[in-house]
Amino acid sequence: MHELSIAEQILDIATDHTAREGVASVREIELEIGTLSGIEIDALTFALDVVTKNTVLDGTKVTIIDVPAKARCESCGEEFLLEDYFSPCPACGAFQSETLQGQELRVKSLIVDE
Ligand SMILES: [Zn+2]
Repeated sequence: MHELSIAEQILDIATDHTAREGVASVREIELEIGTLSGIEIDALTFALDVVTKNTVLDGTKVTIIDVPAKARCESCGEEFLLEDYFSPCPACGAFQSETLQGQELRVKSLIVDE
């Protein structure tokens, strides 16, 4: 399961961070997930629940921030929101566009107890 390895990576990041900062637990973690990332939020939430048992992320509130997909048209330079990979440019109708955001998954912040 794809989401399980993502959950493990998130846990790794949190473990590294808390070890460096010398804190025992994380109150809240914010994740930015692009709408084109292909990640199932429900599956990821479930995977996180499983892998974080008895870790620094046990009981941590997980906040997920959806990052809308954005693209720039290669013909006219218009920037627009992508519904999916096959959305044409709303200004000129061209299908060639460069994806600017929406594929990411990153840990935006970790809020730790002092
Ligand atoms: Zn265009």
